Amino acid sequence: MATAVKELDKAAIMAVLETVPDPEIPVLTITDLGIVRGIAENPPRVRISPTYTGCPATVAIEMLIRQALDNAGFHDVHIERVLFPPWTTDWITERGRERLKAYGIAPPDPSATTPCPQCGSTETEEVSRFGATPCKAQWRCRSCLEPFERFKCH
Ligand SMILES: [Zn+2]
Repeated sequence: MATAVKELDKAAIMAVLETVPDPEIPVLTITDLGIVRGIAENPPRVRISPTYTGCPATVAIEMLIRQALDNAGFHDVHIERVLFPPWTTDWITERGRERLKAYGIAPPDPSATTPCPQCGSTETEEVSRFGATPCKAQWRCRSCLEPFERFKCH
């Protein structure tokens, strides 16, 4: 007789994933980012969608997930990359958006302008499409003159 397959403790695995920070924006967890697509069985695996293509954070995120799963004893749980449908910034949760703003990064928004995360002024301008990482653009506020980053819509 084969040993009975242990019921996959999805809630416990989700609780582990809840603690994994985004390596680029540590105030966000990967569940805030919305990249966790679910937990599947046979074989047990966590399904995640990479964020931006070519974003160096993707590999780092997978390493952090592996580490967190191992630390929690989920050595048999694999990580599966799900490319379709592709991740979009729409999947960032409400809590994630709030955390981004509190961190001084304008959350992604399809509109052409974005209010300044420091002072709320809408007198802002994009300085460069490319911020510190490919995922963010560099913006500047004309009211308080503070530079800030905006999560690129995707
Ligand atoms: Zn401002």
